[in-house]
Amino acid sequence: MSSTPKNNFTTPEEDRLIEEAFKEVLDGYLSSNHRKKVEIIERAFAFAKEAHKGIRRRSGEPYILHPIAVAKIASQEIGLGSTSICAALLHDVVEDTEYTVEDIEQNFGKKIAQLVEGLTKISGGIFGDKASAQAENFRKLLLTMSEDIRVVLIKMADRLHNMRTLGSMAPNKQYKIAGETLYIYAPLAHRLGLFAIKTELENLSFKYEHPEAFKRISEKIAATESQRASIFEHFSAPIRRKLTDMGLEFTAKARVKSAYSIWNKMEKKHIPFDEVYDLYAARIIFECDDPAKEKSICWQIYSAITDIYRIHPDRTRDWISNPKANGYQALHLTVMGPDGNWVEVQIRSRRMDEIAEKGFAAHWKYKVGEGDEESELNVWLSTIKDILDNPEPNAIDFLDTLKLNLFASEIVVFTPKGELLTLPADSTVLDVAFNLHTRIGCQCIAGKVNHKLVPLSQKLNSGDQVEVLTSQSQQPKPEWMDFLATAKAKTHLRKALRKQQQPIVNAGRLIFEQFLRDNEIKDDNIAITKVMGLYKAASREDLYYMLGNQEIMLNEYVVKTLKKDSSKTKRILLKLIGMGKEPETSAKKQQEPAPEKPKINTKKTYVLRYGDNGETNFRFAGCCCPVPGDDVLGFIADDGEVEVHTLDCPRAALLKASYGPRILSTSWEVSGNRFLAHIRIEGIDRHGILHELISLISTHLALNIRALNIRAEKEIFYADLSLLVTDVGAVDDLCAKIRRIPGIQKVARI
Ligand code: MN
Repeated sequence: MSSTPKNNFTTPEEDRLIEEAFKEVLDGYLSSNHRKKVEIIERAFAFAKEAHKGIRRRSGEPYILHPIAVAKIASQEIGLGSTSICAALLHDVVEDTEYTVEDIEQNFGKKIAQLVEGLTKISGGIFGDKASAQAENFRKLLLTMSEDIRVVLIKMADRLHNMRTLGSMAPNKQYKIAGETLYIYAPLAHRLGLFAIKTELENLSFKYEHPEAFKRISEKIAATESQRASIFEHFSAPIRRKLTDMGLEFTAKARVKSAYSIWNKMEKKHIPFDEVYDLYAARIIFECDDPAKEKSICWQIYSAITDIYRIHPDRTRDWISNPKANGYQALHLTVMGPDGNWVEVQIRSRRMDEIAEKGFAAHWKYKVGEGDEESELNVWLSTIKDILDNPEPNAIDFLDTLKLNLFASEIVVFTPKGELLTLPADSTVLDVAFNLHTRIGCQCIAGKVNHKLVPLSQKLNSGDQVEVLTSQSQQPKPEWMDFLATAKAKTHLRKALRKQQQPIVNAGRLIFEQFLRDNEIKDDNIAITKVMGLYKAASREDLYYMLGNQEIMLNEYVVKTLKKDSSKTKRILLKLIGMGKEPETSAKKQQEPAPEKPKINTKKTYVLRYGDNGETNFRFAGCCCPVPGDDVLGFIADDGEVEVHTLDCPRAALLKASYGPRILSTSWEVSGNRFLAHIRIEGIDRHGILHELISLISTHLALNIRALNIRAEKEIFYADLSLLVTDVGAVDDLCAKIRRIPGIQKVARI
């Protein structure tokens, strides 16, 4: 934190304040289980006080109050001992004053000096202007961490105090520090099992990043407090009675969620405050001297609660048999409260509760030794050590690797200007676009991730730099819904689509109504349901849209279907699958396959021959267009010829169901020493790209092209190319050339 010298003296009133604050640190330490090394703590205090003499914080208070507060947090909220308290008192001395690490070592010994050095190294913002600088700081942070985890724990205390006093910082700095806290420190606190600190850090960041929302939610929490208290009283009374009867010593309390986590839930689920039903969790903490008995007591309490309330079948979490990686232990269950809402109940022993609140530091207090819980942390620390011992060629890769471990459910990406965006995991380029602006979202055509062109459905990873490409001619598309991860983007897309489609839907409705009138069909639910079924429309709007957009036409065939009963539905369906969406009257002429006896032996595998010149002993089905080498089945058609369908062809599924005896299992045989090579090409469907692709392939006429199948899905296209070749080199050569076409993302032999 920045400091400003104002005058060299503190007032007597301030001196009293400083002594009082330090006394609180000492008193807290003396009442803990640690050894009583008061002398060195007092010396560290005197040293720091002298070193920061005359310096004031931006708020105007004497600077020394900050290290004292950090020492207090380290001792009382994290549970650290005298070495850490001294290091906390001295943590800003080397950075902000004339004193050096050597001075510290001479006065307080090697260990404390090392901690202060570690803290000095990682001080300052984790985020500088350049990503590599950030990575370097991050690396330092973890490097010192793996040497002595206390450095990170004290840093956590430092950050917490800075966040608690953030109000006196300049607003632009507030924003930066709050963002950094949410990005780095809160997840790190979570990893270390410092739940109380993690929650407070998140909440404070939230307060400065979204002051309006924070105020609104905090007020609502306060306003509903008495109501919540009476509901909890009503809920917990029978549990208290029962546990008391069982002879247990315990406390039962309601823990309200933080404003931040409520806000998070409202944002994620798009619900108002009143609909966040799990505003609080009930927590039962029982006293128990013998750690060996804790588990069975937890389950006794569990059973007692489920005798009283109905349990939610899928929401029991046993963190006792399988503690979380950060050491968290508890038994969670969710039951139906008397007011009809689900309530989560967390059952913990006093020891588990301290570990939950204070993290791994609490383990030291209980001296678990080489227990399982500690080894979990060791696994994580050694992973970090491994990565540090084999540094990646560039620091950004290193940061990415670590971030994978740190943030599983959230990702953070950079805009080209270096701004950070936090998004849920699985977010795509399109999420970023909508996050920036609805208009950018609606006009998004593709993106650049780390300077590489990608489709807008591209999923992002933490650390990605994302640029959004837009085009005036782009229109929002319904299928975009499938790959959006943020609620915000989905809402905006839905709005945009509705706006865009409304005129078409209206036109379609008029067409449909006119059609019914013209053919004297009653306009009722039956008619529209039948037509919706015929065209597989998901809703009325869907059907109207297809009509208005001229994707489908209402013709005589539909009239007949509507006027007749449904005895021929199956036949119609069969034809629809074969013919695509539009039923044609001419389709009627086609006869059902006659059940004549096939000449081919259906018990044997039918060998599909595919000769040099393309001559075959079968024909490809038009519906699914298989390619030699595909997984296919044969169907003996009416003319006795074998028709080949892909295994996943819907028509084939129907044929299998209706004409089982005429289905053949098949295998491919390609003549000569030639073989079939398949190339899968993926790219962004930009204007002209297919033309370039096809003209490139056609310059390779020497290659015996057997099939070229192009299909577009959203804005990406896939091309499957099958070649009959004698030489692998020719295929590789073609692949290399295709890869050079701009917009082509992937070329692979399959
Ligand atoms: Mn500090």
